[in-house]
Amino acid sequence: MVSSARLNFSVCLHKSKILLYSIRLPSFLKIQSYAIKTPLLVTNRLSQIFHNVINSELTSTAQTRHAINPANKQPNPPVPLSAENELNSAVNAAQRAFRLWAQFPIEQRRVALFAWADALDSEKDGFTNLLTQEQGKPLSQALVEVNTAVTWIKGLATLDLPEITLEDSKKCKIIQRFVPLGVACAIVPWNFPILLAVGKITSALITGNSIIVKPSPFTPYSALKLAELAIPFFPAGLFQALSGDETLGPLMTAHSGIQKISFTGSTATGKKVAASCAKFLKHYTLELGGNDPAIICEDVDIEDVVQKVGILSFLCSGQVCMMIKRIYVHESIYNTFRDKLVAFVETLVLGEGTKPDVFVGPVQNEMQFNKAKGLFASIQSEGLIPALGGTIEDSAGYFIDPTIIDNPPENSRVVTEEPFAPIVPLMKWSDENDVIFNANNGPMGLGSSVWSKDLERAHRIGRQMRSGSVWINSHFDVAPHVPFGGHKESGIGVELGLEGLKGFCNSQTLWFNK
Ligand code: NAD
Repeated sequence: MVSSARLNFSVCLHKSKILLYSIRLPSFLKIQSYAIKTPLLVTNRLSQIFHNVINSELTSTAQTRHAINPANKQPNPPVPLSAENELNSAVNAAQRAFRLWAQFPIEQRRVALFAWADALDSEKDGFTNLLTQEQGKPLSQALVEVNTAVTWIKGLATLDLPEITLEDSKKCKIIQRFVPLGVACAIVPWNFPILLAVGKITSALITGNSIIVKPSPFTPYSALKLAELAIPFFPAGLFQALSGDETLGPLMTAHSGIQKISFTGSTATGKKVAASCAKFLKHYTLELGGNDPAIICEDVDIEDVVQKVGILSFLCSGQVCMMIKRIYVHESIYNTFRDKLVAFVETLVLGEGTKPDVFVGPVQNEMQFNKAKGLFASIQSEGLIPALGGTIEDSAGYFIDPTIIDNPPENSRVVTEEPFAPIVPLMKWSDENDVIFNANNGPMGLGSSVWSKDLERAHRIGRQMRSGSVWINSHFDVAPHVPFGGHKESGIGVELGLEGLKGFCNSQTLWFNK
């Protein structure tokens, strides 16, 4: 296993089966068991009936819509189609709840969040199945997401944002404190519909805000159930969820009753969110796209690194913002590494997420499948050489064979664009400065990794990366106490950690003149 002290999607191979682990809380977070006496409502929460949650009530809309199951293109159940009316009701309720909740001591907020986390834990089978049904990822990876969500809620709710004494002199005491903003909105993408939602919800609530969650129209189901599950634990209106189509997000960013937008999604949409928030001087955090490089040095244990890099390139069918999307391999081991990587990735089973042993599920939606088709067409038209895969065919679901492109030029589309599909380019390098330049080249700066046994050299290279996270001998580690965010066009601000919590707060300084 990769890690003991981090909360991550660790990976190991066991008897040639790939096992995904998660969840080790750093011991210093010292999570206590915050007991809540409220009994769980044991109605069948994960029934296939889906509602908005507004002011603690389950409501629907006259018109509904539905998303599809990407493994078979069959419609998933109907969900509400919220518009301005629903948003106004939710904002009014959120404002009332905020006034109450902001006065709650943090211990009490923590107790409620822990109770919600325990409820999620007790419903994890239902959420895991629902996640596979709506997102397409294999059940094993869906379970990791649900388990990690439980741990993130507890990890984030355990953090403290204490007041800071800036000066305590004879004349004056100056204190800085962090006070909640008011009503926050979580705008969530379709690749991690549960985990990304809970990171935003927990950070908003522990700091004293109320929150309205807007899931992606492609994956609205789990988020609605997360809010339904939370009803017994929070004041009415504190944690609400609205399902809608592509018109709902812009309504939220333009609503004068909302103080903060916490957005995760594409860079193109992020720019629109920022422009809309600017008009109303709303706070915002943007977690956007990535095109992460991994630099593989010549001294690595090839067997070991091939397997880790293979997993970290094709997890969730390549639909992770901070996955390995460009692999730079030292020329002296390039051929061996390529051949072993191909052999390893060939063992990853493609298919419906509900089937045992499947590692690569379908991509999530038609838009993504069509984008991938365009990329496959460019692989052909640019004359690139696939070391594995390289073709895409229509089938019962949005399935794409894992594809590795053999040493494409730096300016080819498969290198410059974030594929968000199981397609990875593998490039040769020989000069350290050149590979650092190429790895940093381009508008994205979410994550990057350096793989070497020589830790001094890896650190030297790592410190020159222009990205929000840099991993040495791993990739994709995240933890609730560690800030996460992108450089360049990969984002503005951070989420998680104390800095992430501060993103849901105003700074206030108190001057006590003695
Ligand atoms: P997207 O930008 O299309 O949609 C994200 C969310 O924004 C959805 O809920 C969508 O309904 C909403 N939205 C769309 N238009 C809007 C508008 N004008 N105003 C407000 N909201 C609007 O992104 P996606 O396709 O769902 O997600 C894939 C992208 O997200 C990839 O680029 C990926 O790298 C990125 N991503 C980033 C992170 C991160 O932490 N940096 C994490 C996951 C995904």
